[in-house]
Amino acid sequence: MTTFRSVNPARPDDVVGEYPTHGAADVDAAVARAAAAQRAWARRPAPARADVIAAAGRVIARDKEAFTALVSREAGKVLVEAGGDVQEAIDMADFVAGQGRAAWGATVPSELGDKLCWTTRQPVGVVGMITPWNFPIAIPSWKIFPALLAGNGVVIKPSEHAPACCAAFVAACVEAGVPADLVQVVHGFAEPAAALAVHPGVQAVSFTGSVPTGRKVAVAAMETGPRLLSLELGGKNAMVVRADADLDLAVDGAVFGAFGTSGQRCTSTSRLIVHPDVAGELVERIVKRSEQLRLGDPQEPGVDVGPVITGSSTDRIAGMVAAAVDEGATVATGGRPVTVDGCDGGAFFTPTVLTGVRPEHRIAREEVFGPVLAVLEVAGFDEALEVVNSVEYGLSAAVYTRDINAALRAVDGIDTGIVYVNAPTIGAEIPLPFGGTKHTGNGFREAGTRGIEQFSQVKTVYVDYSGRLQKAQIDTHPVGEGS
Ligand code: NAD
Repeated sequence: MTTFRSVNPARPDDVVGEYPTHGAADVDAAVARAAAAQRAWARRPAPARADVIAAAGRVIARDKEAFTALVSREAGKVLVEAGGDVQEAIDMADFVAGQGRAAWGATVPSELGDKLCWTTRQPVGVVGMITPWNFPIAIPSWKIFPALLAGNGVVIKPSEHAPACCAAFVAACVEAGVPADLVQVVHGFAEPAAALAVHPGVQAVSFTGSVPTGRKVAVAAMETGPRLLSLELGGKNAMVVRADADLDLAVDGAVFGAFGTSGQRCTSTSRLIVHPDVAGELVERIVKRSEQLRLGDPQEPGVDVGPVITGSSTDRIAGMVAAAVDEGATVATGGRPVTVDGCDGGAFFTPTVLTGVRPEHRIAREEVFGPVLAVLEVAGFDEALEVVNSVEYGLSAAVYTRDINAALRAVDGIDTGIVYVNAPTIGAEIPLPFGGTKHTGNGFREAGTRGIEQFSQVKTVYVDYSGRLQKAQIDTHPVGEGS
């Protein structure tokens, strides 16, 4: 079998691990093993499954430092953010475990006597998961924990840029008591992922990644049979700063939102939509702060911005910046790849602020997935909200204002799955649903109490204990008797 290497994006000579390049036959075997293990798992009561998930959270918490170091090394996240990624999985284990003892359905009074009506949820069977690299512990936890709680088996194809993180996460689950065959990991690039999406033994597909890949997965998955399909895709997230905003807060939010995780969060702030009265001062302060950020080896404490994931990402980002300049934007700071001492071959890109961007420019419409903030000046608040909504994405948005009426108008008028007031576009918390509108997703939400919906089917149950045939709608409103 051929293999591939996962490398540290800050120092590509540092090989994190070597993994098999799995193909369709490996996916077949993985699905068969997960399906066999799933039957016994689904027979365990949900609170017992929840206990195992809680235990997985405790294993990850015990090893938090090692997980954090691995995330930093493999995904290039600075240590504090890598720790946040791991903490999200610990929180998710606690939250999902609690759901094991919560209500899973509704009871409804029957229109007939001596009859009970309720809904419950049942597992789908085997869930196929395809994940990106940028939250290499958190995203597997968002999917695997609720899927297991619902009683499913899992086959996951992690990103080729973060196989070690996923393998470590699944090993923690197994140590905590998840049956060894129940969660299968297949490694590689597009081939095993594509095979998983169309596999007849996979009853639900859960994909997180870019819009172009998500579209391919969706078409293939539905062509080979109706199945539950959840898509969590890209974003083009905007921060609106009104003239009445607290500018200190807006500067902090814009810098963290745009350059945290080197701009490689699905919720990264990539558009700053600002009133001309404050644009000059705001941009000047953001530029100054961006230039003070310490770029470097993300495993070193005190580094603010790590690498982007690959050298080809730096080329792609540089190309988008050049195209923006061609369209009329100005580079206020950054705009180029850089080398970092001690990080030979590392994929670093300077935090970049572009001014003079117009809503029709490519840089204002397409996901960059890198440390680039495009500044758009708009005269009025209605126009600001129009510009926020003018893109095909609908993940996250933020508004900075001291005016409560304006804040609530923004909450109401912005067409995204997540809206922040006086906080950046990043920073979701796991008890609440996460996901987006328009091309960002297909209506499902991860996390929160709705997270389980991706991985289960509703079953409606009627129990008639009257001892006779009762007919809904007919007995209650007989024709000819004044229905
Ligand atoms: P990607 O789309 O390149 O890859 C995602 C996964 O799809 C990887 O495992 C990859 O191997 C696999 N894949 C590649 N080609 C495939 C094919 N033809 N068929 C099936 N699977 C295939 O994304 P990425 O670069 O890993 O991640 C970045 C993207 O993910 C960004 O667009 C970001 O916004 C998005 N993202 C979204 C969310 C969310 O919750 N909405 C969260 C994190 C990341």
